[in-house]
Amino acid sequence: MSLTIYNTLTRRKEAFEPLDPGNVRLYVCGPTVYDYAHIGNARPVVVFDVLFRLLRHTYGPGHVTYVRNITDVDDKINARAAQDYPDTPLNEAIRKVTEKTEAQFHEDMRALGALDPTVEPRATEHIVQMCAMIDRLIAKGCAYVAEGHVLFRVASMPEYGTLSGRSLDEMLAGARVEVAPFKQDPMDFVLWKPSKPGEPSWPSPGGIETPGRPGWHIECSAMSAAHLGEVFDIHGGGIDLVFPHHENEIAQSRCAHGTDVMAKVWMHNGFLQVEGEKMSKSLGNFVTVHELLTGWQGYAWPGEALRFNMFRTHYRQPLDWTRVSLDEAHKTLWDWYGDVEPHEPASEVPSAIVEALSDDLNTPKVIAELHKLHGAKQFAELRAALGFLGFSGERAKIERTSSDGAPADSGSVDELIAARLVARQAKDFAEADRIRDALQAMGIVLKDAKDPETGELKTTWEVAR
Ligand code: AMP
Ligand code: ZN
Repeated sequence: MSLTIYNTLTRRKEAFEPLDPGNVRLYVCGPTVYDYAHIGNARPVVVFDVLFRLLRHTYGPGHVTYVRNITDVDDKINARAAQDYPDTPLNEAIRKVTEKTEAQFHEDMRALGALDPTVEPRATEHIVQMCAMIDRLIAKGCAYVAEGHVLFRVASMPEYGTLSGRSLDEMLAGARVEVAPFKQDPMDFVLWKPSKPGEPSWPSPGGIETPGRPGWHIECSAMSAAHLGEVFDIHGGGIDLVFPHHENEIAQSRCAHGTDVMAKVWMHNGFLQVEGEKMSKSLGNFVTVHELLTGWQGYAWPGEALRFNMFRTHYRQPLDWTRVSLDEAHKTLWDWYGDVEPHEPASEVPSAIVEALSDDLNTPKVIAELHKLHGAKQFAELRAALGFLGFSGERAKIERTSSDGAPADSGSVDELIAARLVARQAKDFAEADRIRDALQAMGIVLKDAKDPETGELKTTWEVAR
């Protein structure tokens, strides 16, 4: 089956042809480890997990290398370490922050059904490769040393701006906001910068005597080359990374290696949004994966409901994250699981599912196909399909626990039951059913009964088993 992918570089859908079908190579920019991942950060992880699974299915599990880095050197990490561990030496505090955050990230992403990447390189373990690359760029005239920094000379790269499609004027306007005096041109960007005493630092490239640390963009250029080679198949990340991060990665890698491309295909997921705005730490409109899994607004959702909710929107579209949509996704899963007895997963994934995924990861189409299979004899196949999508194949876990491990917030359940009663009394049965379904989606089963003494309708509830 042929795979087509939308390529940001060419702005069209293209048939995917691996450079080497024996080793299909994918790189995705990973997290900067200083805080819990919010559900927006999880979107690229889930999207590229679907791609990874599809590539493994198409080319064989042993023929795909998926690299997703860990950025463990960054000013935000330093700031968080100083804030959280004010009495600990900075480097030790940084290690505590990055180790804790990385472990949490792994736990959260596994809960979302994401496979571990083949390689997860850490920036701090690739400083030597970064310095070598920087020295090469200096030797080629593509970079220069200035006041303890090394800067990339954008004028040395005529095709700079091709990925993002930005004009020189637009880029200049952005770059002029804050121009360091040592830059030869406002567009030039940092490859290496000096560290203050106590900050993480390494011996500098470019003959600079004072120690320093790498800029963010060079990290991905060095790590992708180290694990995937100078040119590889697919590079992915969120749409916000197109400029400047990916544009700069391309400039660095192509100039250092003298190649026509860095990756053949560039894929970008759209934003996960809240009321039309990107979910982000800086806007404060975020909810972490950990909160959703362990207790948020009185409920906790199984990871596969979060994953399934993402599948309802095509990866290039903006995804509106709402509680209603999440509950609907959870309910659908619950219906699917609730209907059938567990089987051993079949080895064959239905071809309609593979076909839908092979069309630029059309997950909404996959869901439509799953609805068609639902209830049919092919449940074994359905299970396999779910497994292929990363579900565990077990019944959805409907454990109502809050973050402190206490039972679900029965207060909110009682409130919903009361609201349902009001709706029934008002003969708004659609609303009453909606509330019952929402409760069911949360794993709460209602029982209506007349009080034998008063004749009044009473509703009790229990956690579904
Ligand atoms: P960051 O930690 O901000 O560097 O982001 C890590 C990854 O998450 C990058 O690939 C970002 O593009 C992606 N990302 C961050 N926020 C969102 C969002 N609201 N929607 C989708 N992807 C996002
Ligand atoms: Zn990157």
